[in-house]
Order: sequence, then structure tokens, then C-alpha cells
Amino acid sequence: MQTYLKNGYIVTMGADETVYDGGGVLIEGENIVAVGRIDPKLVKPDAEVIDLQGKYVLPGFVNTHVHTSQQISRGVGDDVDFMTWLHKRMWPYESNMTEEDSYVSTLMTSLELIRSGVTSFAEPGGQFVSGMARATAESGLRGKLAKSVMDCGEGLPAVWQKTTQQELDEQVYDLERFHNTADGRVQVWFGLRTIFNNTDELIVKTKELADKYGVGIHMHVAEAKSEQEFTYAKFGEGTVKHLENLGVLDKNLLAVHTVYLTDEELELFKKREVKVSHNPASAMRVLGFARIPEMLDMGIMPSIGTDGASSSNRMDMVDEMWLTSLIHKGRMLDSTVVPSQDILRMATKWGARALMDDHLYGSLEAGKKADLIVIDPHGPSMMPVNDRIASLVTAMHSNNIQSTMCNGKWLMKDRVILTLDEEAILKEACARGAAIYDRAGIVLPDRFPVVKV
Ligand SMILES: [Zn+2]
Repeated sequence: MQTYLKNGYIVTMGADETVYDGGGVLIEGENIVAVGRIDPKLVKPDAEVIDLQGKYVLPGFVNTHVHTSQQISRGVGDDVDFMTWLHKRMWPYESNMTEEDSYVSTLMTSLELIRSGVTSFAEPGGQFVSGMARATAESGLRGKLAKSVMDCGEGLPAVWQKTTQQELDEQVYDLERFHNTADGRVQVWFGLRTIFNNTDELIVKTKELADKYGVGIHMHVAEAKSEQEFTYAKFGEGTVKHLENLGVLDKNLLAVHTVYLTDEELELFKKREVKVSHNPASAMRVLGFARIPEMLDMGIMPSIGTDGASSSNRMDMVDEMWLTSLIHKGRMLDSTVVPSQDILRMATKWGARALMDDHLYGSLEAGKKADLIVIDPHGPSMMPVNDRIASLVTAMHSNNIQSTMCNGKWLMKDRVILTLDEEAILKEACARGAAIYDRAGIVLPDRFPVVKV
């Protein structure tokens, strides 16, 4: 079956980054067959033909860091300090989740991802890869799923106290069950939670296994000042330098946050082709500024992630793109840094590169997977559209995303989600979220006096 999108503003993000004004995209099965000027002879009589009337077509966005298991905890971390957030809120919350909770939480996240134009994401680690895999298969999205892996650290909940070998064995078990399922959309990576909770032995063995299976490693790296203080006290060097000494810095390491990096560590990222996920909202809340302008100057190609709902509440790539466009200008006192075209690269083809999939998606080119979005600028928040590329970053909201396609299948069309029952998931997710708060004994204080009427 073919789908023919015609008369659009096609932002390809391909090798030469051509934009086709009045162009088309022809899709057959899972793949893009032609882009730009479409030969009418290629279009079969029974093709689904959609006249875009000038709307944009872009590659689907790639969210390179999103905690799908945290979605139903939303609100749990607002306005509290880091240690309260971690020990009194997040650990009790996550350690009280069931496999079914993780499944529903991932379905809930999928709704927000699809609505904000995401077609592919990377999950850094929930407790139940099986639940996340089930939900990702149903949603129609692509996901790189990892387990939250911890083999050391003070005060961990009993259920999380595991040996190094147990953690490695569980990941291999998940990988062998779920990797490359759902037409290849569901993949399993190795996870390393943070250097606070991972021994050197675990880190080194994880790298060996990731190389053996040809998959990536997803790790929070140099995310907080407290982490920097910890690694200098313990190892006499920063996290990145320590990972280099362990032989782990490589093309298949996805390093997330990467806020506290020295010049030497930036050079190591460049040399080893380490992948970077920039998460501006969560960085602004507790962590600090990642050195994105410097990375762009050096040719390190960062990507963008939203983090989890317990850290930043909004799993919305459009919001993260907008924040990325603003915060570095403020930090550098220079309104020319991190321009919109770099942000679009970060959200599309550099995201695909970060997930080691740039041969498959991240740009609109013949032969690639049909992962794309249709954007309708109509409405008071985005019109008039004068600078057409910049407006995608500086003016667009996620409700301008009209339709989302992954692997040749519409996940959302005209703002209606087609793969999931949205209302049923919202209801189930709210009930499960509240039940976990109860089980974990988390009580959020009233911020204003409440009178029940
Ligand atoms: Zn995270």
C-alpha cells in the first residue's frame, strides 16, 4: 500500500538538507520511495493521496532520553531539593511499581510522544523491560529500552539490591527476549544508571556485552555538581575521564545530561564519537548548563531528550527544542548561538545518529524508513510564518503537529491517535499513579489551604 503526500513544504534533513517547496513524499510499506519532485508514474492507482496544501513534512523527532516508567509519577518532584527528590520521592515511587504499572506508564508516555511528533525514543531504564516492550509494540513507536541498573550505593530500596552478575544476567535475558521484536521497532540496550550506583566492574562488563551484542549503552553522565564532587573525591577525576580510563568511551555510549565536562573531557567525547543527549528542562531545574555551543563548534553532534516526568513534567520535544534555542543564548549572552537549523538537526538526524540508526531514519530520503510528521502552522500562535525554518523552533507548539507516521503507519492522523485508546489509558494511568503514591507513602503537601466542598 502506498501513501502519497503531495504539495507540501518538505524539510528533508538529508545529506544536503534540501527543502522542497510544493514537493511530495511517496511511501510504500515501511519505506520512503521518493522525495521532492515525484514522478506521477510511481504513484499506484490505489495509493492514499493527501494534498498537504503547503503544510510542512519533517522527519519524526527522536527523543534520546525519556523515562517512560516515570510518566505516571508526574508532579512528584516539583520544588524539592535533589536528595529529597531522589530518596524520599523517586526511589520509593519507582521501587513500588509493578510490571503492569510500567506498561501503562509507557503507554501514557507514548501518547505524549506521538502528539509531540516523536517517532523514536530511548528509555534509560525502568525496572520492567517486558512492560515497556509490550507498550512500545502496541504504540507503533520505535524504542531503545534499557533496565535501570544499580549494583552499589547507600540506601537503595531492598528490592534493588543486586549483585553485578545479577544485573548483567537480567539485561542479557531481556535482550534475548525482546531485542528486535515488533518489526524491529523494539530494541534493547544496556543501561548504567549513574556512577554513584555502578561499580567499575559493572561498567567494564557492560561495555563488553554491548560490543558483543552490537547495541548501545545508555548512561546518565556528569549530570550534577554532586556527581562531580563524588568522582573527584573517589577517583581524582571527572566521570568522563574515569570512563575513558575504563575504556568505555566509544561510539556506542549514549551519555545523557553531560553538564560538568572539562575541556579535556569534551575533546575525549569528540575523539571517541560519544553520543550526547541534551535535556534542557531538567538541566535548568537542578543541574546546570550543558556546553552545547562548545560542542557544536567542535563538531560533536548532540541530540535532545526530555528526561522523565518526575524531573521535568513535559515529555514534549517541541518544548525542549524551544528551550534549547533560548537557554544557551542566555548563558553566553549571545543571541546568535545554537541557531534553529542546529536544533532541527539535534531533534532529527543527530538523534538518529545518537541511537546508532542514522542509516534507517532521521531524514526524509528514498530508501529510509517512513518516520515523519505533518505540521500545520494554522492558528494564532504560529502565523504568520515568515522565517519558515526558524518558526519550527521559535514559534511552533506541539498542537501544530497534525499527523505522525512511524515505519509507514499513521500513529496519529489529524490529531487523533490511531494506535492506542487514549481516554482508557488516561483513566488507567491516573488510577495507577495514585495507587503507587499510596503504596509508597508519598504525600505531597497542599500548597494553598484546600476546602473540600
Ligand atoms: Zn534521566
